[in-house]
Amino acid sequence: MSMTTKGFPLMLSFDLDCETMWTARDPEARKRPILMSQGAYGWKRGVWRVLDVLRRYEVKSTFFVPGEVVLAHQEVIDALLKDGHEIAHHSHTHRWIVSLSPEEEREEMELAQQAIIRATGQVPRGWRSPAAELTDVTMDLIKEYGFKYSSNFFDDDAPYLLKVRGAHIDCVELPFRYINTDSPYFQFSKILPGRTITSPPQVLDTWSWEFDTLHAEDRMMVVAMHPEFIGQPSGSTVLARFIEHVRKQDNVWIGRCDDIAADIRANLLADA
Ligand SMILES: [Zn+2]
Repeated sequence: MSMTTKGFPLMLSFDLDCETMWTARDPEARKRPILMSQGAYGWKRGVWRVLDVLRRYEVKSTFFVPGEVVLAHQEVIDALLKDGHEIAHHSHTHRWIVSLSPEEEREEMELAQQAIIRATGQVPRGWRSPAAELTDVTMDLIKEYGFKYSSNFFDDDAPYLLKVRGAHIDCVELPFRYINTDSPYFQFSKILPGRTITSPPQVLDTWSWEFDTLHAEDRMMVVAMHPEFIGQPSGSTVLARFIEHVRKQDNVWIGRCDDIAADIRANLLADA
C-alpha cells in the first residue's frame, strides 16, 4: 500500500534562484553582467518553458522562490499561481546560511515571508534552504514560522516528522538527494572549477533508474530543479520525457509539496 491516498508521491520541485544563484556566492557578482545573465535566464526564458511542459502534462508543482526574486518578478509569480503551482519559502537573498549571524538568519526568514504573503496573498507552507545548509537557529525558525513541510535533508527516501531540540514538530520533512537535482549535471561556469556539463539523456536515465527503484520499494521521490538549467531546451526535454517515463506506472501522484505533505501528515503524526 502506498504511503499516500493517491499513490506513489513524486514531487517535481523547482528553485527559482535567478540572479541570487550568483550574488549569494559573491555580492560583487552584480558587477559582472554576463555572469548575472546566467541567472536572468531563469525568469526571462527558463521558467516559461518549464511552465509549458507542466501545462502540457497537467502537472502541479512547487516553486521555492527567494524573496528578492518574488519582489522583482510579480509577473512570474502571477503566472505560477494562475497555473495552480505552489510558491514556497527559499530565503530572501539566497545567502548561504552558515555564513549568517542569527539576526541575519531571522531577517532572511522574515523578509521573504512578507514578500510571499504580499505577492501571493498566502502564508508559505514550506521551506527549502538556499544551498543545502542550515543551523540550529534555522530549526527553531522552522518551528516558529509554522511551516507544514521542509524539503532539505538527504538522509532518507521517505518522509518523516522533523525534530527540533529532541521533540517532534508538526512539520513533514520531504528529503531529496543531489543525484535527483539538476545543478550537479548542468550548472557550469568558469567561476566553478571542475564542473562539466552532463549529457541530458544521461540525466534522464539517472532519474528514471532512481524512480524505478523508489517506486518498486514504495517510497517517494523529490526532484529538485532550477528553471535556469532544466528550463533550457534540452533540459525541458529531460523533464517531459521523465514525466512520460513515470506515467507508465498508473499509481503515481505527481503533486505539490504542500498537498503531498498534508496527505502524509496524519499517518506520521499517528506514528510519532
Ligand atoms: Zn536555491
